[in-house]
Amino acid sequence: MSSLFNHVFIPLVILLAFSDRLGLDPKKVFALVFFAILPDADVIIQPHRAAFHNIFALIIPLLLFILISNRRETSGIICLYLASHLTLDLFNGGISLLYPLSKDVFFVSAELRFDLQSFTHMLEYGVRETVAVNGKGEPLVSSENTGIAVLLTLLGIILAVLRRKEKF
Ligand SMILES: [Zn+2]
Repeated sequence: MSSLFNHVFIPLVILLAFSDRLGLDPKKVFALVFFAILPDADVIIQPHRAAFHNIFALIIPLLLFILISNRRETSGIICLYLASHLTLDLFNGGISLLYPLSKDVFFVSAELRFDLQSFTHMLEYGVRETVAVNGKGEPLVSSENTGIAVLLTLLGIILAVLRRKEKF
């Protein structure tokens, strides 16, 4: 599991920031944020990063989004939260994207490092047999996450103030 912060706070703030343009009710965006961490419930039923971390987990809310027009807002928010979880885990150890058809773990690893003399970039992607990161020992909210939370909260306050000024 990536940090709880990454899964909850980042998609929540992004959806809130674009709620006006997307026509989303901010109360629904808050109420449905549970879906941003729901895929990790497969840590209970196993296999973790497979049972609820696959594209088929997106099918039900996606079908509701397409077929039921009066539930489009709710199903759309759920789809975005689930997709954000899968995307973040894809970049953090990998997920069994096609489970139960295949247990292969799809992954992307992209990093840029600086060692005081030069930059080193690394890009790996593909399919392997196991998840590289399982979340053990990872903080739910790191110190860096707290710094990002402060920045995003300030951004949210600035956007709210600007919106209020536009309305008057
Ligand atoms: Zn996960």
